Amino acid sequence: MSKTCMKCGKDFDDSSILDQMSQKYPSCPTCWAEWNTYSVMVINELRLDMSLPEHRKALRKHERMFFGLEKPEELQKNPDKREQDDS
Ligand SMILES: [Zn+2]
Repeated sequence: MSKTCMKCGKDFDDSSILDQMSQKYPSCPTCWAEWNTYSVMVINELRLDMSLPEHRKALRKHERMFFGLEKPEELQKNPDKREQDDS
């Protein structure tokens, strides 16, 4: 079945989907791969800890911005300003 990617607006066939997670927002494999690369950058940049709900929420916000569901805004620093070292 053909779907339209929310990110690039191109049609893609859902049989080409490698990761079912990508269908949360219909996105083509190319854009989903792009998001995956970008999300790693966001996680590093904001020092997100995926074990913390607040941090997962922050990443989800970026995900929504990436796919055009929310307006872009300044990157926020660590939501809870937790002190942490790099080790
Ligand atoms: Zn796309």
